[in-house]
Amino acid sequence: MVDISPGGALGSSATSDIFQILRDGRPRTRTELATLTGLARSTVALRIDSLTQLGLIGPAETAPSTGGRPSSQFALRAGNKVVLAADIGATHVRIAVSDLTGRPLSEDSAAIEVAQGPEAVLNWVIEAGDALLSTAGRSLGDLLAIGVGLPGPVEHSSGRPINPPIMPGWDNFDVPAWLGAHFSVPVLVDNDVNIMALGEREMAWPEVDHLIFVKVATGIGAGVISGGMLQRGAQGVAGDLGHVRVSRDGETLCHCGNTGCLEALASGPALAKSLGVESPSSQDVVDLVRSGNLDAIQAVRQAGRDLGEVLTACISLINPSVIVVGGAMAQAGEHLIAGVREVVYARSMPLATQHLQITQSSVGANAAVLGASLLAIHHVLSPESVEAMVVDLADATAP
Ligand SMILES: [Zn+2]
Repeated sequence: MVDISPGGALGSSATSDIFQILRDGRPRTRTELATLTGLARSTVALRIDSLTQLGLIGPAETAPSTGGRPSSQFALRAGNKVVLAADIGATHVRIAVSDLTGRPLSEDSAAIEVAQGPEAVLNWVIEAGDALLSTAGRSLGDLLAIGVGLPGPVEHSSGRPINPPIMPGWDNFDVPAWLGAHFSVPVLVDNDVNIMALGEREMAWPEVDHLIFVKVATGIGAGVISGGMLQRGAQGVAGDLGHVRVSRDGETLCHCGNTGCLEALASGPALAKSLGVESPSSQDVVDLVRSGNLDAIQAVRQAGRDLGEVLTACISLINPSVIVVGGAMAQAGEHLIAGVREVVYARSMPLATQHLQITQSSVGANAAVLGASLLAIHHVLSPESVEAMVVDLADATAP
């Protein structure tokens, strides 16, 4: 009896099974796909037709056969469809149109203050996004999804920023609806640290399944990858380390209303203020460190120790194999990392630090745009999304 139930052998889940195998980019024959999925060859052939019509896969080079005709191979067509990625920072926006591996096809950036409000910033993304699509020779029909990073807390289920401290006018703004009204594709929104963690891992640590990316700049936060998956927690706040209390100072007032927060002691502006810099920013501290100012070097090293104290608890909780420190303050070089290592190695269980690497971000500013494109790609190439596309295709072609 033929199984025609939605999840059965002829149902769309068979299609996503085949597609998930081809996502690695390696070409395979129908016979190989039948063996790998356990599906009948006729089923594999039908599903390959659907995926080819969707433009997600296509014929590849012909494989040598054991005699007779060469058998055709099929592979992911990463360049057939695109995603739009937007990294919205406090004072900049970077966007890119990328293929389905995250490779940028065209890019743009602008100095825009996030404080100008959601409509001004997102309308720039819409205009620049349209321009980038045509620069890359693509139409709206080629666009599958949009990934956006924002410099504040984002409720994961809705894609809305929630009480973001440096984003006036953005609280509870429906970012997916605003962009979706123009582009008509799914819009995924996350905070900037999470997308940086995704990008850093993809570019520098693709084999690592347990990684913490810490951004130290105007604020302090972390993106946590555990078991190969970005961990957002119940509301999307996982990794928000900035307001954990540090033991050495219970007095310093934080902008959150509490005292002794990590961010109030170790962020770029906090250090600059303690060094008596006017108009304090992370860059001022980095400049002082680079010029050899001893007070600045000591302050950065202490900030590293404060960060290390908080990270020690994180290490006990999720046992990462890599901790990457990024953000503007990471440019102060080894002084910050040295402070982190000092405390982490002194305070962690030996087994947890035996193979632990604590290192500076190697990807830098590009990590965020790449991460935003991966956010979109992971969504749109998930089994559920591919199944939905196949069902839509079947509906569209039904007599
Ligand atoms: Zn605080």
